[in-house]
Amino acid sequence: MNRHDAIILGAGASGLLCAALCAAGGLSALVLDHSRDPARKVRVSGGGRCNLTNARVAPTDYVGQNPHFVKSALARFTPADLLDRVHAAGLETAEEDHGKVFCRQGGQAMAEFLVAQARTAGARILDQTRILDVGRNADPASGRFTVTTPSGPLASACLVVATGGLSWPRLGASDLGYRIAASFGMPVVPTRPGLTPLLAAPDMAPFCRALAGTALPVGIRVPDGPTVHGDLLFTHQGLSGPAVLDASLFWRPGQTMHIDLCPGRNLETLPDDAPRQDVKNALARHLPARLAAELCRRAGLAGMAAALPRKRLLAFLDGLHAFPFTPAAAEGYAKAEVTIGGVDTSGISSKTMESLAVPGLFFIGETLDVTGRLGGFNLHWAFASAHAAAMALTTCRT
Ligand SMILES: Cc1cc2nc3c(=O)[nH]c(=O)nc-3n(C[C@H](O)[C@H](O)[C@H](O)COP(=O)(O)OP(=O)(O)OC[C@H]3O[C@@H](n4cnc5c(N)ncnc54)[C@H](O)[C@@H]3O)c2cc1C
Repeated sequence: MNRHDAIILGAGASGLLCAALCAAGGLSALVLDHSRDPARKVRVSGGGRCNLTNARVAPTDYVGQNPHFVKSALARFTPADLLDRVHAAGLETAEEDHGKVFCRQGGQAMAEFLVAQARTAGARILDQTRILDVGRNADPASGRFTVTTPSGPLASACLVVATGGLSWPRLGASDLGYRIAASFGMPVVPTRPGLTPLLAAPDMAPFCRALAGTALPVGIRVPDGPTVHGDLLFTHQGLSGPAVLDASLFWRPGQTMHIDLCPGRNLETLPDDAPRQDVKNALARHLPARLAAELCRRAGLAGMAAALPRKRLLAFLDGLHAFPFTPAAAEGYAKAEVTIGGVDTSGISSKTMESLAVPGLFFIGETLDVTGRLGGFNLHWAFASAHAAAMALTTCRT
C-alpha cells in the first residue's frame, strides 16, 4: 500500500494551501477530491471576483459554539501573511469597503494560484477520485489511517479533512467531513445554511414581489445578534443583498428582524420640510420611489403631508427605522454561501486543528463549526486553519 505523510481530503481553499505548506515543509502530501476542477468555490467566490480576505479580520467576525476557537490560528496567519504569498505569485489585490480584499485577476486566477502553490511545492492532487471509506489502519506501522478509493486503499500517517460544508452542492459539496468525524466518535454541531437570502412569509410576499429589484442601504437588527449594515435587495421570494446574507448568520426560525430603512436619517422633519408634497413623494427623497410608494400604500397614507394626522404620520415615519420582517425560512444550501455548524470545535485543538481524541486526524476550513461573516472572512478562515494544521504537521516531522 502507498504510504503518505499526509492525505488531505478536499482540494478546496483550505486543502490546497495545507498541501502546499505540508509539501514545502518536506512532507509527502496527497490531495484527493471527487470534483474535476480543484477549488471550484474559490473560482466563483465573490461573484467571480474572489473576496479572498479582509484587512480587518478579527475573532469577533466569526460565529460558532466556541467564539475563542479561531483566535490562535488567526493570530498566526494574518491577512498580510496571505497577501504576501499572493503578491509574490504575481497576483494583485484591491481593498474595498469594510476592509474586503479582492483578487484583481478574479477567482479563477486565485484558484490556479492555489493549485500551483500545491503542485510546485511537490504535493500531488488526484481529482475525480471518490472516497469510499476512511478508517484506522489495521497495521499502524504503515500509517495510522487508510483511505479507500476505487483504485484501492491508501495509507497515511496523518489525515486532514478539508471537505468543506454543505452549501452549493452543485460545486461538489458533501457531508463527508461530518461523516468522518462521526465515524471517529467526534461530535458535530447541527448544520444550517448561512449567508443566504431569506424567504418572505405569505403576509409579506406580495410586498417583496412588488419591490423586486429595489435595493437600498439598511441596518438590520436580529434578536441576539449585532446590527448589520449594508445593502438590502428585494426579490420575488423575499430579501437578499449583502446585509440580509450577513444577518442570516444570526437569524433563527420564528424570529422577527427589525430593518432600519433610513439609517442615519431624521424623518421627523419630513412633514415640515415638504408640507405640500404628496407624502409618498416627500418620502421618496429618502427612499427609492417604489418603496416609498409601497410603504405609504400599505399604511393607508395618501395626500399632502400637512393634511395628514401629524401623530399618525410621525409614528409611521418612526416605524421606518424598525420595519418588522419575520422570514418564513432561510433559502436552502443551494443558495447559501456557507454552512453554519459542523465538526464541534470542543474536540479540536485550536492551535493545531488536530482532533484531541484521535492523534493524526485534522479538520480545517468550513468543515469545522466556524462561520465567518460576509466580507472575505470565510476564505481567510480556510487559509488560517490550513496554515495552523500544516505548521503542526511539519513541526512534528522535524
Ligand atoms: C457562491 C459562493 C461565493 C463565496 N464567496 C466568498 C467570498 O467571496 N469570500 C469568502 O471569504 N468566502 C466566500 N465563500 C465561502 C468560501 O468559498 C468557503 O467558505 C471556502 O471555500 C471553504 O473552504 P474549504 O476548503 O473549507 O472548502 P471548499 O472550498 O468547499 O472545498 C472542499 C473541497 O472538498 C471536496 N469534497 C467535498 N466532498 C467530497 C467528497 N465526498 N469526496 C471528495 N471530495 C469532496 C469538494 O469538491 C471541494 O473541492 C463563497 C461560497 C460560495 C458558495
